[in-house]
Amino acid sequence: METKIEKINAESLNLAKKLILEGEIVAFPTETVYGLGANVFDEKAVKKIFEAKGRPSDNPLIAHVADAKTIELLACEISKKAKKIINKLMPGSLTIVLKKKTSVPDIVTANLDTVAIRMPLSTEARAFISACGVPIAAPSANLSSRPSPTTYQAVFEDLNGKIPLILAGHDCEVGIESTVLDMTAEPTILRPGIVTAEQIEKVLGEKVLTFSDKNRKVNSPGMRYRHYAPSIPAALDTTCDVKKVSELYDKLMSNGQKAVILCLEQYSKFFENKEVYSLGKTEKEAANKLFSALRECEKKYDYIIEMFCPKTEEGFSVLNRMIKSVGENFI
Ligand code: AMP
Ligand code: MG
Repeated sequence: METKIEKINAESLNLAKKLILEGEIVAFPTETVYGLGANVFDEKAVKKIFEAKGRPSDNPLIAHVADAKTIELLACEISKKAKKIINKLMPGSLTIVLKKKTSVPDIVTANLDTVAIRMPLSTEARAFISACGVPIAAPSANLSSRPSPTTYQAVFEDLNGKIPLILAGHDCEVGIESTVLDMTAEPTILRPGIVTAEQIEKVLGEKVLTFSDKNRKVNSPGMRYRHYAPSIPAALDTTCDVKKVSELYDKLMSNGQKAVILCLEQYSKFFENKEVYSLGKTEKEAANKLFSALRECEKKYDYIIEMFCPKTEEGFSVLNRMIKSVGENFI
């Protein structure tokens, strides 16, 4: 199949709508990462997402909507608390999990009785969803287990020949996937993101739980799989121990492996004469750069040494992705 790449305009949105309503899948930008979308209500189309990505069928998708009213088409038992979250934090980089309506096909939710819903802030994403006129089921638009795509070029790298259309918009501002918040019982963060527990607690006026590893598999099936893995080996230091990182770098280089150190800008001074890839000056910038950095480094080097010791909640969300990207291979 030929994969078209089209800038977002009235004509390409029309084409995207046509494809979606014919049961095809389309990649589109959001502020977090690029998504691979299908009509939520079209089981056959949703199946194509799993096939194109090589995604395990027990890993549910997120239903994307352009307005709050559409949430009622997908979810029931929307509590007062859930409504507060919808009013105050959506649109944004937040996904809420609610009890699903029977109209949502089981393939979207991997047979769970809940549905994850997000209203993106990105005007490009909203234009696409609105043009289609149906809620859009979408996971990230990468091959399963690869770093999520934050540019249309990264989508093309993974899915060329497997999907008919990529809507080529801006590079993603946030760069890591949405915070997933379960609102079916006690509010619980299932996946950390750039919308923080602190922000959610401010809206709800109560503590939110953060998911313990013990129960993660049951409540958020997607969290169990290898994620965000570059195609070359990688290791992580979470203490910013520059001596330890330097030693590993030197060892790799003396074994003939071209290594790179991925860290915040301010640490680069400790690694003179070494290859460093900067994640920017702030932890928020690191969120924006992480996935594209992993994809760039795998093209140029043999081994990635990630070094990151976060101080902010946003930073811990980045660390969550880094830990998965190295397959828990800590230095
Ligand atoms: P992706 O957008 O590729 O990160 O995939 C969506 C993620 O959302 C999944 O991997 C799950 O972790 C989460 N998710 C989707 N639906 C549900 C649900 N009903 N309950 C809990 N988590 C969900
Ligand atoms: Mg994903």
